[in-house]
Amino acid sequence: MATESATLGTCPNCGETIPGGYLLIEYDTTDGPSQFAECPDCRDIVHPRP
Ligand SMILES: [Zn+2]
Repeated sequence: MATESATLGTCPNCGETIPGGYLLIEYDTTDGPSQFAECPDCRDIVHPRP
């Protein structure tokens, strides 16, 4: 399941692509799985956009 080259999506703040290694936590919501990741560019904690 660990795919090094996978990206989480893009930062909703600055649009930077967020690599898989920047994933902080993944959790399930009633709407499905959700993720928090640190943006490598603006250093914010964001929900990556697919
Ligand atoms: Zn960003």
